[in-house]
Amino acid sequence: MASARVFQVALVDRVSPVADYFNPHTKNEITYTIFDHLMEIAKVTPGRFIPGPGWSYRPAHVQPHDVVIYFLLDSGQSLVRKKLGVEPPTTDGGCTYFNGAVTLSEVYVDGSMPATRLANVAFHELMHNKLKLGDGMHVLGGVAAKPTQENSRLNPESIGCQRRSSIPCRNTPKPWPSDSRPGSLV
Ligand SMILES: [Zn+2]
Repeated sequence: MASARVFQVALVDRVSPVADYFNPHTKNEITYTIFDHLMEIAKVTPGRFIPGPGWSYRPAHVQPHDVVIYFLLDSGQSLVRKKLGVEPPTTDGGCTYFNGAVTLSEVYVDGSMPATRLANVAFHELMHNKLKLGDGMHVLGGVAAKPTQENSRLNPESIGCQRRSSIPCRNTPKPWPSDSRPGSLV
């Protein structure tokens, strides 16, 4: 029997210890919220994947179907700008850029607390990342809508869209960076 695939969501902390609110409690809350959202999808996609969000991972073990999400203090720290030369939107809580060669998702922590909201922003970016949808994704509503709020929910439209797309099972064009250590981008 084939074993279920682990869908790794590698969360990268580029905030601590600058902001004391971005502490282990906050990070746990983010992990659990993302896990809960992914379980909603896993429940209707039987045997297809095991959600694996977490803050420690081996970059060499990041698979093409996995997702890496960077948590940064604000858009001034944007890796999309620094590494890819693309200007991120300054009014959103996060940004995902994809161009067919690389996919880079980031969340701006400053001004987006509490933890549940940060988790929802991260999940929103995860959806952009995996579905390869731009602003058109926002019409799905709930956690896919813009702006993403603390009380945004993963609604049936978003669940259905991700299930139909086999979201955790589909390879993406190379998570950023799949081949270097998390600390090497600063
Ligand atoms: Zn969006």
